[in-house]
Amino acid sequence: MKKNLLLLIKLQECDSQLVGLSTKKIKLPEKIAKLDDEFNLFKNGIEQNKRKHDELKARHIESENKIKKINEGMVKTKERLLEVKNNKEYQAMLKEIEIAESSRGDIETEIISILEELDKFSILVKKDEEILSQRRKEFEAEKKIIEADLNAIDADAASWEQKRADLRKDVSADILARYEKVKNRNNGVGVISVWKEVCNGCHMNIPPQLYNELQKTTELLSCPNCNRIMYFQNMEKQA
Ligand SMILES: [Zn+2]
Repeated sequence: MKKNLLLLIKLQECDSQLVGLSTKKIKLPEKIAKLDDEFNLFKNGIEQNKRKHDELKARHIESENKIKKINEGMVKTKERLLEVKNNKEYQAMLKEIEIAESSRGDIETEIISILEELDKFSILVKKDEEILSQRRKEFEAEKKIIEADLNAIDADAASWEQKRADLRKDVSADILARYEKVKNRNNGVGVISVWKEVCNGCHMNIPPQLYNELQKTTELLSCPNCNRIMYFQNMEKQA
């Protein structure tokens, strides 16, 4: 193949690789963010039992405190009972003690059911924690791979940039200008293969005469439709 065309094909490879890498540099952090979101969503969902468990625990403490308060109140009432002067006051205080005892009974019943619920939720929370820990491991492993990929981009790009700079030195200024112009107008692809009379860039047919000429000439020919610089490539031979 013609020297200029070979250089352009290699240059195209560099340009395409660099475009791919800069796309990756945008896409990979998005992928990581999406992974983070998914994990947090999962974590939030699976921690429902834990929240319920913590809520029950708080209710248990609260109930125990209520009982403590009632008991303290009753001690005081019973002390006052000794100093009571008339029957009416005495009856009122007995009533007060009775009410306190009854509400203490209610709270104690509630505590029993809270403790039963706590037992159930403790088992669920333990299972959830195991699932979450497994999921976290998977999530972190996946994230690590993407981060490594992301960290390699700059070095990779620098190497393609160097290769491109070296190639550009060998291509004449007018051909380079033609390539750049066509490339910028065609989504970053300025050189394209043609096979079986079809341009692989725009997928349009190449007139048979031009197709024949492409296989013989030393000139740089352009696709009549997309204007990309063409080169003949036998796809069957390649495969
Ligand atoms: Zn074309």
